[in-house]
Amino acid sequence: MIRGRKLRLVALAMVLAPLALLASSFLAAPLPAPAPLPDPVPAASPPAGMALFQLPTGVTHRSAAFAYRGGSFRDPRDFTMTAALVQHPRGDLLIDTGFGRNIDAHFREMPFLFRAITSFDRGRSAAEQLEAAGYDRTRLRGILLTHAHWDHVSGVSDFPEVPVLVTSEERRFIEDGGRLTAVARMAAPHYETYAFDGGAYLGFPQSHDLYGDGSIVVVPAPGHTPGSIIAFVALPNGHRYAFVGDLAWQREGITEREERPWLARTFADRDPPRVRENLLRMAAIATRFPDLTLVPAHDARAFAALPTL
Ligand SMILES: [Zn+2]
Ligand SMILES: [Zn+2]
Repeated sequence: MIRGRKLRLVALAMVLAPLALLASSFLAAPLPAPAPLPDPVPAASPPAGMALFQLPTGVTHRSAAFAYRGGSFRDPRDFTMTAALVQHPRGDLLIDTGFGRNIDAHFREMPFLFRAITSFDRGRSAAEQLEAAGYDRTRLRGILLTHAHWDHVSGVSDFPEVPVLVTSEERRFIEDGGRLTAVARMAAPHYETYAFDGGAYLGFPQSHDLYGDGSIVVVPAPGHTPGSIIAFVALPNGHRYAFVGDLAWQREGITEREERPWLARTFADRDPPRVRENLLRMAAIATRFPDLTLVPAHDARAFAALPTL
């Protein structure tokens, strides 16, 4: 009798222990504060006529708890799927593309488990918004991808004539990333790789200055995917932005130094230790330059200040 009770208690503990562990992985656990960044604000000469717009294409319905440790399940966050249009006299750029015209077909390419926990609303695609605004698409010099996941590349196939700029690491990931990069392979665009031929930039070891004027500087930020990048944008009015892609899904990931909870990072991040390393680099930058606008790819609050077309 007593033996039977003991066995039941052991069985109960075996069920509860992993559940308790899983629950604890959602609790706040700030990463240690990084050393202060001594760097001065990097030089930039953004030309007059440069401008930045947002093209919101839809949302997925999530909670803060899904995005970062310490976030609440009772804090709903619609993850925005937004492309950014950077106008530059030497050719315009889209940073990511959000949901494209074929988003329903693209979503069906995603793994079953992901589809089971994801609901989304689609809006007008970036291509439709540019069209409605009478935008001349021959001004587009390229699409700069922060990384090649479905929600960033879905709109790429609406711009078959525009080169898509990725790192060689991300190019390889597109080929061997299985279902996670199926949409990037389907889009079959004209990929163009670039090299990090510039020096250290704000604590990142390498950089690539897209226009040679400091207005858009790309740094490698691998971890979420092997070739993820961050794009720093400087406007003529002096304002600066950091498009951090999915390094963090909401800005608290950087400002509170909270990584994704275990379940989310296990599913979403190729290399969590490298995500942590780059989160801390960005945290040091955010502390050093509080006026810099952090733009996590899915944080609606970050895009709210940007004008639409
Ligand atoms: Zn992603
Ligand atoms: Zn994403």
